Amino acid sequence: MNWEMLQKKIVCYRRDLHSFPEAGWTEFRTISKVAGILDSLGFKVLLGKDIIDESFIMGRNKEIIPEHMERALNQGAEKKWLERMKGLTGVVGILDTGKEGPVISCRFDVDAVETAEAADSEHLPFREGFSSQNIGVMHSCGHDGHTAMGLGLAEVLAERKESLTGKIQLIFQPAEEGVRGSKALVEKGILDDSDHFFAIHLGMGIPSGTIFGGSLGFLCTRKLDVHYRGKSSHAGLAPNEGHNALLASATATLNLHAISRHGGGASRVNVGVLTAGEGRNVIAPDSFMKIEVRGQTEEINDFVYARAVQILRSAAEMYEVACGVEMMGESFSTRSDEELVDVVCEAAGSSGLFNSVEKYVWVKWSDDAAGMMKRVQERGGKSTYIILGSDLKAGHHNEFFDFDESVLYKGVRVLLDSIVILSQK
Ligand SMILES: [Zn+2]
Ligand SMILES: [Zn+2]
Repeated sequence: MNWEMLQKKIVCYRRDLHSFPEAGWTEFRTISKVAGILDSLGFKVLLGKDIIDESFIMGRNKEIIPEHMERALNQGAEKKWLERMKGLTGVVGILDTGKEGPVISCRFDVDAVETAEAADSEHLPFREGFSSQNIGVMHSCGHDGHTAMGLGLAEVLAERKESLTGKIQLIFQPAEEGVRGSKALVEKGILDDSDHFFAIHLGMGIPSGTIFGGSLGFLCTRKLDVHYRGKSSHAGLAPNEGHNALLASATATLNLHAISRHGGGASRVNVGVLTAGEGRNVIAPDSFMKIEVRGQTEEINDFVYARAVQILRSAAEMYEVACGVEMMGESFSTRSDEELVDVVCEAAGSSGLFNSVEKYVWVKWSDDAAGMMKRVQERGGKSTYIILGSDLKAGHHNEFFDFDESVLYKGVRVLLDSIVILSQK
């Protein structure tokens, strides 16, 4: 394998994806490109309802799908792939070696973030002319790099097919941000026969040259949309006739942030969005909130969630408004299996590409891969979540976010070598 050439190719993929970022459940151009490449490399390509159980989709706005499919077509998506997607993003590529051996799955998330990218010559993607063409959306978490790594891996696997055994499955997952996408894939059963599962994330505060074979401490989380519906009235003439949804959500907000800590470990709660009201002299009839809870364990997450729901409903009762709570995303705590962590560390160590190879890092965020890791483990398989260090220009989800592209082929190399080790066991 000529790694220098592969690295160049991966960077090209990354920069192309970076130019056309698509937020969760609208990744039509991205998936079309990925599907085309997987197909050309001889992978079996699964899309749409073959990989997604629609009844488990979270946080997807159906109304915006047609316009985003149209945009994707205008930005180079192929009609034949769009037709097979049937409005559902995500793609799974399967390389079946035809030989007996393990089923190995790798997850690459493909979605972008709702961040407006910096138009500043200090920012390399802007300076080099590959910054976002899609206003208000940006690859500010590095998922363009993940997708590009997945494509690089597909190429080296196809090349090595003869020396591998079993089945390798590359999962390009939609809607990771907001932990909305994986459940629909997990419930469809795409991981039910996997013996080994790898997820990988670059950056996350870890510098270039360092790699962690596994992660500990993911926070369980639930994301909720809350609607309050009251009744408008004249604020001077008859305020007593109104049912004030603004006050209900304000009361809820202050009390949500006052939920007790938990003796068992870390917890989080955040009201990220609150909108309400119609006019200065109108008792506000509607309000809307986007909130999230997190917990170090499922027990803690359940505790914060139950308290949150009670507060939301009690505030509604106080102000005589109706309350609707909708689950928009959910994720779990995970552990990385030592057996697999050791395989990654062996591959990373013998590659000579890293100056620091570590087993575990403690993380304080959530990732939608958790549901996938959990399903594989429940069925007796092994999972791990790798952190590929990369120097960053700014933090994740920031408008100046940019990573060190030179780490991309190293991630591919580690995944390839890990698969080879497992394939030859
Ligand atoms: Zn992110
Ligand atoms: Zn991310």
